[in-house]
Amino acid sequence: MKLIIASTNKGKIQEFKSILAGSDLQVIGMEEVGIAQGADETADTFEGNAMLKAKYVSALCGEAAVADDSGLCVQALGGAPGVYSARYSGENAADHDNNLKLLAEMEKETNRDAKFVCAIAVAHPNGKTQLFKGELKGKIAFEMKGKGGFGYDCLFYLPQYKMTSAEIPPELKNKISHRAKALFKLKNYLLNGK
Ligand code: IMP
Repeated sequence: MKLIIASTNKGKIQEFKSILAGSDLQVIGMEEVGIAQGADETADTFEGNAMLKAKYVSALCGEAAVADDSGLCVQALGGAPGVYSARYSGENAADHDNNLKLLAEMEKETNRDAKFVCAIAVAHPNGKTQLFKGELKGKIAFEMKGKGGFGYDCLFYLPQYKMTSAEIPPELKNKISHRAKALFKLKNYLLNGK
């Protein structure tokens, strides 16, 4: 069976390919089947965005398609930045500016609880769909720390490791992350049907 990744992000396509290596699935990026642009992320939930992106590509190419959406939810900010994580401080925002905005919004907050969320959707040409979700809980730090990772990693403190997710080794992040958890569920479903 072919599985089309509804993304043009090479890193993301590679991540899907490696996690599904060893299966008899043919994992292909959407550009390889002639789709240059995916659907806009217009939903107000991670699940909604992942689903609309997967359905769009599956309908266009007539194959099963998979898409993901992820972001940071901060309890004291009512779940923000949420689906707006990438564009928190404006369209095409730099990670550093998003982090500066988050620090400013959290300046007076004592509740620092937060989580990274990842939703992965699979859409089949017959209309069947599946959703998988992963979460990683942590706290928003008072200052940026660490050079690894991307996005909000330098502000995402993991009490169990006493480090931010930008300080822990990448191999560890790839085991415990919201994306790893959702990908593991996807793999289980695609390989074992559960
Ligand atoms: P995307 O849906 O995977 O493109 O992620 C949207 C945004 O959420 C990213 O631009 C980051 O700001 C944030 N984000 C998602 N996953 C992570 C992570 O693992 N670390 C830090 N930031 C993340």
